[in-house]
Amino acid sequence: MNDLRDLYQEIIFDHYRHPHNFGPLGGANRQAEGYNPLCGDKVTLYLRMDDDVISDVHFEGSGCAISTASASLMTEALKGKHQDEALRLLDNFHGMVTGTATGEELGKLKALAGVREFPERVKCATLAWHTLQAALENRNGQETVSTE
Ligand code: ZN
Repeated sequence: MNDLRDLYQEIIFDHYRHPHNFGPLGGANRQAEGYNPLCGDKVTLYLRMDDDVISDVHFEGSGCAISTASASLMTEALKGKHQDEALRLLDNFHGMVTGTATGEELGKLKALAGVREFPERVKCATLAWHTLQAALENRNGQETVSTE
């Protein structure tokens, strides 16, 4: 178990130091911003939707290791997913970090399972996912104009 824990921590710090899919996304057609005042985490999420499929996804922002690693791992998991699949992943992820699901099908995202032992960090881990939900539902009306 300790080896697994070390591996998971390595994944988190690796994604924190070198976030994947970080920066603006040319051709993005959905955007949402998220903020977690408890920790000061900020994330802006950019999606390029092709019909109902997430063809690309990037994020920007600043936050703690948990929020940054969660956003980075999330963007990796989302590419090529239908938005219904993305929302199922969100449910599974939320269940995993709140302790109501095992997260068995979440792959690398399981690196964040340990968050369930730290309830005050759950919002760090779920920030990017709540932002994703807002972007998919386009709740804040930021239909982004492409810069390209
Ligand atoms: Zn945080």
